[in-house]
This record gives sequence, C-alpha cells and structure tokens, in this order.
Amino acid sequence: MFENLSDRLERSFKILKGQGKITEINVAETLKDVRRALLDADVNYKTAKEFTEKVKEKALGQDVLNAVKPEQMMVKIVHDELAILMGGTASDINIKGNPAVILMSGLQGSGKTTFSGKLANMLKSKRGKSPLLVAGDVYRPAAIEQLKVLGEQIGVPVYSEEDNKNPVKIAKNAIQYARQYGRDLVIIDTAGRLAIDQQMMDEIESIKNAINPQEILFVVDAMTGQDAVNTAKEFNDRLNFNGVVLTKLDGDTRGGAALSIRSVVDKPIKFVGTGEKLDAIDVFHPERMADRILGMGDVVTLVEKAQEQYDEEEARRLQKKIAKNQFDFNDFINQIQQIKKMGNLKDLASMIPGVGKQIKDLDFDDDAFKGIEAIIRSMTPEERTNPEILNGSRRARIAKGSGTDVQEVNRLIKQFDETRKMMRKMTSGGGKQMMRNMRR
Ligand code: GDP
Repeated sequence: MFENLSDRLERSFKILKGQGKITEINVAETLKDVRRALLDADVNYKTAKEFTEKVKEKALGQDVLNAVKPEQMMVKIVHDELAILMGGTASDINIKGNPAVILMSGLQGSGKTTFSGKLANMLKSKRGKSPLLVAGDVYRPAAIEQLKVLGEQIGVPVYSEEDNKNPVKIAKNAIQYARQYGRDLVIIDTAGRLAIDQQMMDEIESIKNAINPQEILFVVDAMTGQDAVNTAKEFNDRLNFNGVVLTKLDGDTRGGAALSIRSVVDKPIKFVGTGEKLDAIDVFHPERMADRILGMGDVVTLVEKAQEQYDEEEARRLQKKIAKNQFDFNDFINQIQQIKKMGNLKDLASMIPGVGKQIKDLDFDDDAFKGIEAIIRSMTPEERTNPEILNGSRRARIAKGSGTDVQEVNRLIKQFDETRKMMRKMTSGGGKQMMRNMRR
C-alpha cells in the first residue's frame, strides 16, 4: 500500500541528512521534494501545497532538540501532519437507534455491495448487532442475488422485493420489517451508476429524505485517485454524507484519495476495504495510516520521547527565574512532575535540589514525592509564588490540608529556601549544566 509514496518521502528526508539544523533553505528544498512525491501519489494540488506549507511552518518554529537530527525531526512533523490531513483520530460509526439505519451510496463497482456485507458481518460479530441487509438496487437482478449470497455467507437475512421497482418504498418496508422481526441494524445497499447521473442522485436523495438514516456512508474505489475525490464532492454536495469508505486499498493505490478526501469534502474516512473477502474491512485510523505510509515508527517514537523529556525553553525560563530569585513552589512541583514522567527515578533523585538529600535512603518510587506534592498542592497560588508569606497559621492550615504535620511542612519550606539559595549561587557557574541534567 502506498509503497511508491513511502519510498519517495524517505528520499526527501535524506536531503536533510548531515545538516546541522533545519534552516529556511534546507526545509524549502526538502519540502519541494515532498510536494512532488504527494503530487505523484495523485494528491490534490491544493491539498499538497497547503500540506507542505504547514510542515514548513512547524519545522521552522520547532525548538532545537539536541538529541534529534533534522531529518528525524522532519519525519515526525510530516508524520503528524499526514495523520491530521487524514482526519486526526478515528471516527466511529453511529449505530444508535432501534433499528439504526445505514444508507450506502457510491458509484457502481465501487464495492458498495461487498462492503455492505463486510459491515454487517463486522457489526454482528464485534458489536453484537442483529443486522438486516436490504437490496435497494432495483435495476440489476444480479445485485440482489449478490447480496443474498453475501447474506448467506455471514448468516444475515437479506430483505428484497423482486417485483417492486420503487427503492424508497422498499427501504421503508425494510425498516418496518426490521422492527417487526427484531433486527436492530438496517444496512441499505443502493443502486449505483458508472458515473454521476442525475436520476441516481435524485433517487438516493429521496431515499434519504424518506427514511432519515443515522449514517450515510459514501463508498469509493481508492484506485481511482483524484476521480474518487471529485465523486466524493458531488455526492457530499447532494447527500451531506457522514463518512467515507475507501475500498480496494489492497491494490496498487497511490494514496491520493486517502490523503485528499478529508481536506476536500471535510468528512472522515471511517472504514477501508482491503480485499474481496468478507473480513477484509478495517476501521480507518489516520495515525496508523500515517505510520504505514512513512514506515518509520521508530524515528517517530524517538522524537516523541525527546520532545517529552527536553524542554529547553522551559529550562532557560527556569534559569532566569532562579537568577532573579523567583524560583517558587510552582516550579518546584513542575520539576517533580517532569522527573516522575521520565521514569528511572533513582538515578534522577540526586539531581533534584533538596529532595535528593531527603529521600536518598528511601526505597525509591513515586510515593517518595507524595508528601511533598500534597504539601505544595495544599498551598494557595499566592503562597506558591510568594513562599515568604508562609507564616505559622498558614503552615498549620497546609499541614492539615495535606494530611501531614507542621514539622513536615516546616522541613519542606526550609529545604526549599536552602535550595533556592543554592540554585542561585549555581546559576552563575556550574549550575547551568546541572539544570540541563535535570531536564533529561
Ligand atoms: P458495487 O457495484 O458498488 O456494489 O460493487 P461490488 O461490491 O459489486 O464490488 C465490485 C468489485 O470490487 C467486486 O469484484 C468486488 O469483489 C471487488 N471489491 C470490493 N471491495 C474490494 C476491496 O476492498 N478490495 C478488492 N481487491 N476488491 C474489492
């Protein structure tokens, strides 16, 4: 899937190899290549242009993370933007209601009938639904037959009226039938044409208006690239559908449809079809799709870790506060939080000024911070920023609020004061390195 695009993107990132940092010039060069790769994958021109502009903005505005190389940073940014482009998070299908009604739309040959069977099968086995498949294609007897065969394979009844040529009535009758026979999900397969056609549009629109379905899904063959996107737009203008189903992703698709549909019609891709068999259906996960396209999950994880752990700007801000003697309990608790997030607490313990001394002999785990955190959290915001005001009565209140005692509160405040002094001394010399270490 999307192999060509994956290869091309990988080559684009190589432009940044050996570069010390991301600059306006090397980013422009890389993104020119990325844009070409997208266009060759049949991504909509406007979509590709907007995409690379966003990536550029992000890349240039990024903090410089020493642990990460420019090309790795670029992989991560492109990855995240690809996921956003495809919708960000997965969108669920709405199957509330009894019966819930799902109307399928799309051109002939898109895979509508096959997908109706796949969806019924999935919702039956994974979500405990009792589906009813409805043959709404009144023009092709073969279509009715096809649905019946599918229904038989998955053990789902198929509603059809061979002599009735009115799909609106058939849809209504089918819902009635479902109510009567306790089917809580109705999936209506409709007639398609080989191309957009006024009569077909009128027909499906009148079915929609007559039955008011929970979900209208638009099914499209991913192999058709930009045509898929244009068709999606026409159907959406008419039906305002809820989601897209991309079929035939198992074939030699270039990726254009998957990448452009969301930004063109602003509707999520909800499912993909990945084969002719009835279990070849997947919920669409933009993030996972981005992983697959880039095939560089390890790099993405690496950058994420680095981003979590380094926040150099924050470290610089902290240094300034310390120099001005403004380091307060908010900073203190932030530091504890940061360190907890990083794991490997034992190694890090000695690096937290003041705290290290206190807990050096403890069997070290998250609990070691609990008392300290509770005390700080029991302070008012004013007390946290101006620890000087912590008089006796305030300390007593804090002890009570945090479930500790006044001695403990006193001890923490004393240590905090000492820490502050010590840190201030250090920022003029070797302390800078220590602050940096604290962030790791
Ligand atoms: P409809 O006219 O929209 O109902 O389309 P069909 O369901 O009849 O599908 C048209 C053809 O595409 C059939 O030969 C299906 O087996 C095939 N097809 C449907 N979905 C997929 C898919 O996800 N992958 C592959 N490879 N073929 C599919």
